[in-house]
Amino acid sequence: MSASPAFLMRLVASSFSIAEKAQTIVREVMSGGDLGVVKKTGANDLQTKADRLVQLSICSSLARKFPKLTIIGEEDLPSQEVDEDLIESGQSEEVLKHSCPTQYNHIKEDEIVVWVDPLDGTKEYTEGLLDHVTVLIGIAYGGKAIAGVINQPYYNYQAGAGAVLGRTIWGVLNLGVFGIQLKETPEGKHIVTTTRSHSNKLVNDCISAMNADEVIRVGGAGNKVLQLIEGKASVYVFASPGCKKWDTCAPEAILHAISGKLTDIRGNPFQYHKDVKHMNSAGVLATLRNFDYYASRVPDSVKKALVP
Ligand code: AMP
Ligand code: MG
Ligand code: MG
Repeated sequence: MSASPAFLMRLVASSFSIAEKAQTIVREVMSGGDLGVVKKTGANDLQTKADRLVQLSICSSLARKFPKLTIIGEEDLPSQEVDEDLIESGQSEEVLKHSCPTQYNHIKEDEIVVWVDPLDGTKEYTEGLLDHVTVLIGIAYGGKAIAGVINQPYYNYQAGAGAVLGRTIWGVLNLGVFGIQLKETPEGKHIVTTTRSHSNKLVNDCISAMNADEVIRVGGAGNKVLQLIEGKASVYVFASPGCKKWDTCAPEAILHAISGKLTDIRGNPFQYHKDVKHMNSAGVLATLRNFDYYASRVPDSVKKALVP
């Protein structure tokens, strides 16, 4: 390891530790019993005390260490004094053992946009579907998702005694993905993963066209991309507006770092520069393998209905 790691690796190492702190906050709010649920745009668009505290923790911890970063978080919060207990200043030594891919060595703090989803799968969190929940920190450079951290606070929570609760997955383009074991879906089997709480006619029309052997409905964009990586699903299909850039940035970077692909439903790449529209209006399509096959099955009527 060089004496002074590249900025990108220091940012990923800090994001890793900050995501682990977030996992503690998510669990503490749940065990405290008062979720403090607030409806945002409607009954299926919720914010809890965990969403608020974790966003404060992630954004303040990053901004204190890296003041020139552009950080965009999901939650609209009033500016406020942040409790020192929420600040994480550590950095993962494990991440710092890895060298930065040479093409990212020169990246400077003010060239990065960080997209933060403090709690992805909030609806499921409030319903006790705890392993659907993830914390997402996505790192973009030149408008492209190049690195990401996904923490799953309740990974293994039903696995029984002895199993380690929670995990943190991280990845950088041209370096790889760490903290998760890649698995293939059974040969020739088409398993679709999709939303469980934001379905509509278009979403279902698109799923029907996939000719799937099985359809899994789970919460969270982060969770669904982890299912692709672990071979539990072969394609993530969401033919509707609803997902935002903070939902897709970290999962996209991680999937792309292992040669997967995440785009809108028409196969067009997302942009992640600071002025981009937050809404992914043309839906989401993602796979680890065989992207072109699934993209070819998306009906023209669905493509026509979803305008970027
Ligand atoms: P889901 O697959 O339904 O869990 O959605 C993945 C992410 O997109 C979550 O952060 C959701 O909150 C968000 N999302 C998807 N559809 C909508 C919607 N109609 N309204 C608000 N958020 C949505
Ligand atoms: Mg989300
Ligand atoms: Mg969220």
